[in-house]
Amino acid sequence: MVEIILKRGKEKAAIQRHPWVFSGALEKVKGKPNDGDVVKVFAFDGEFLAYGYFNGNSRVAVRLLEWNEDQIIDQSWYQNRLKQAIASRAFILNDETNTCRLVFSEADFLPGLIVDKYADFLSLQILSSGIERVKNDIVEILRSALNPKGIFDKSDATARGHEGLHIENGLLWGENPPEFLEVKENGIIYHINIAEGQKSGFYCDQRDNRKILASYTKDKKVLDCFSYSGGFSLNSLANGAKSVTSVDSSALAIDTLKQNIELNKFDTNKVTTIQSDVNKQLRAFAAAGESFDVIVLDPPKYAPSRSALDRAARAYKDLNRLGMLLLEKGGLLATFSCSGAVDIETFKQIVAWAALDAGKEVQIIKQFCQPEDHPVRISFSEGEYLKGLLLRVL
Ligand code: SAH
Repeated sequence: MVEIILKRGKEKAAIQRHPWVFSGALEKVKGKPNDGDVVKVFAFDGEFLAYGYFNGNSRVAVRLLEWNEDQIIDQSWYQNRLKQAIASRAFILNDETNTCRLVFSEADFLPGLIVDKYADFLSLQILSSGIERVKNDIVEILRSALNPKGIFDKSDATARGHEGLHIENGLLWGENPPEFLEVKENGIIYHINIAEGQKSGFYCDQRDNRKILASYTKDKKVLDCFSYSGGFSLNSLANGAKSVTSVDSSALAIDTLKQNIELNKFDTNKVTTIQSDVNKQLRAFAAAGESFDVIVLDPPKYAPSRSALDRAARAYKDLNRLGMLLLEKGGLLATFSCSGAVDIETFKQIVAWAALDAGKEVQIIKQFCQPEDHPVRISFSEGEYLKGLLLRVL
């Protein structure tokens, strides 16, 4: 196994169990590892630090996966890691919910592997060359542990590009999922299209937040912005919302949302769907004198990296300002950011600017975070990406 020595003083992060070793930290690579090879990482003074996946194309040269030198990284190691991750999600799955994230990359000690369960199908994202190398083993372990109908590769994420991997989108094992697969979350049925849907097909990270938000929507007039397939809209309807308006720029999202309304037999008269840019639509509502009791803002990632932070902050601020202006006095704004680069304190600051600009007094009445199937390792704060605030706007 190739050994890698870090520069003097560069061992601290690895000792603190942070899973990334940046290329600038490498002093010496003893040999010629291929991308995806498991390598042994040492401090400058020769102390063993961890095992990790090497990648010569990536800014993150080694992704650490095991800190115990006695462990052998073989099939049974993968089996243990996968079984542990799957077992820790058992309490999420029940009669009401048959979809969740089973494996969440670094948080589950499998850097670059994401596994989502959609009823009887599994959708994988393989985002590191290390995991790519053992893909067949992983498929075999998942197949025997979970007995799914099919395992699908949905690795079309930009992250693959950083590792020099091609985009994959296809069947790995078993049968293809139907064009519209039925899954259940919080007792609500969704049609999801694994092959064409966004991300891995469904945003299961908002499961708990949808339910929490819905508990405030009985008899309320709700606006669900960036609705995708209707997570917040459907939970609100299930909880007796008076009306729901759902806005998304994607035609596929709006189509799927409409199917989901029918699938759950909700009253279609209560629902308005608008395929439009949210910023434009919010301005149009303001111009028309529209207002709402509850507004959800769940935009895509505005800050893909720290360098995009300033621009993203302005976009979040503007969006939140527009949302606040459309609320009835005392109305609720559920506002989210899924940008890892925007931490909760920064997000609060941005929302405070929005409130000042909107001339509104705002109370935080609840904070939202990512659910248990997207754990955050205490040593890896980069894994904490989803945050939100429930605001009362006075
Ligand atoms: N709230 C959703 C998830 C939102 S994901 C849920 O609970 O499932 C973000 C969504 O924003 C995507 O569906 C994407 O199509 C949509 N989107 C991105 N940019 C947009 C824009 N400028 N205007 C409207 N929708 C947008």
